[in-house]
Amino acid sequence: MVRIATIDVELCKPKKCNLECIRFCPINRTGTKAIEIREGSKKPIIYEEICIGCGICVKKCPFKAITIVNLPEELETDLVHRYGINAFKLYRLPIPKEGMITGIIGKNATGKTTALKILSGKLKPNLGCIEKPPEWDEIIRAFKGTELQRYFKKLVDGRIQAILKIQYVDVVPKYLKGEVGKLLTRVDERNIVQDLKIELGLEKIWSRELKALSGGELQKFLIAATLSKDVDVYMFDEPCSYLDVYERMRIAKIIRRYAVQKGKTAIVVEHDIAVLDYLSDLVHVIYGVPGAYTLPRKTSNYRLASRA
Ligand code: SF4
Ligand code: SF4
Repeated sequence: MVRIATIDVELCKPKKCNLECIRFCPINRTGTKAIEIREGSKKPIIYEEICIGCGICVKKCPFKAITIVNLPEELETDLVHRYGINAFKLYRLPIPKEGMITGIIGKNATGKTTALKILSGKLKPNLGCIEKPPEWDEIIRAFKGTELQRYFKKLVDGRIQAILKIQYVDVVPKYLKGEVGKLLTRVDERNIVQDLKIELGLEKIWSRELKALSGGELQKFLIAATLSKDVDVYMFDEPCSYLDVYERMRIAKIIRRYAVQKGKTAIVVEHDIAVLDYLSDLVHVIYGVPGAYTLPRKTSNYRLASRA
């Protein structure tokens, strides 16, 4: 068994507790350290190779900061990324299928955004090696014989390009200033911005400053900006948040039309099952324990009767 021990640094408050996690650990009571206060930090560290996974610290922590999960050892070879010691682990990745839309669904904090960041090349996966993260050559070798090996090779060599529509649209006005129409015209590499203006219903906000937009308007602005880039793989992290049911279906149709129907590839993370159902050619369901680990699993080939 492989032990995954995570400590939520936001929840862990050593100054407000009695260090119950350390005091009640049965291994610590034998004189060996399975958990202790980390050197140079005021927060605890759990040594996963020593911890027996009894879960006593999980129950004793007054702030529910600890999660302990036991997983089969074989899975360790599939580890793609870990954010740090006692932090979240991502096993396996969804595989982008050329010319198709791959849907991803799963609970919050199960690594969907991390998977998109890795697949778009924004985050280099560390394969669980936190102290000495591997270079791309090693990462590509780790995926030997899989579709992901070919995908990453092309991405790293610059033979394919990917773009990611971020999840939190409300941060955009902090980094980008200007009028909607001017900004979209500037990024339009496919000569589609006038069509998108009509299809996304952007006419009313065309002359408006970005900082004056609502969440839904920012969402549509970002979708237009993403689709306007001439890349091979389009990734959308929750494209339907802030939008009503009518707008969600409109967005789904537009993503299909401007991505896959033009021979491109797309990956969409979405909580709205109806939208994902309409959009996706195949779906990866992410399962695991939020904040601890995650494992994407592909559903069998999935094409919807509604679109067949
Ligand atoms: S994990 Fe819980 S019990 Fe342990 S130090 Fe943090 S808050 Fe206290
Ligand atoms: S799970 Fe049990 S053995 Fe591991 S650190 Fe917590 S109390 Fe100690």
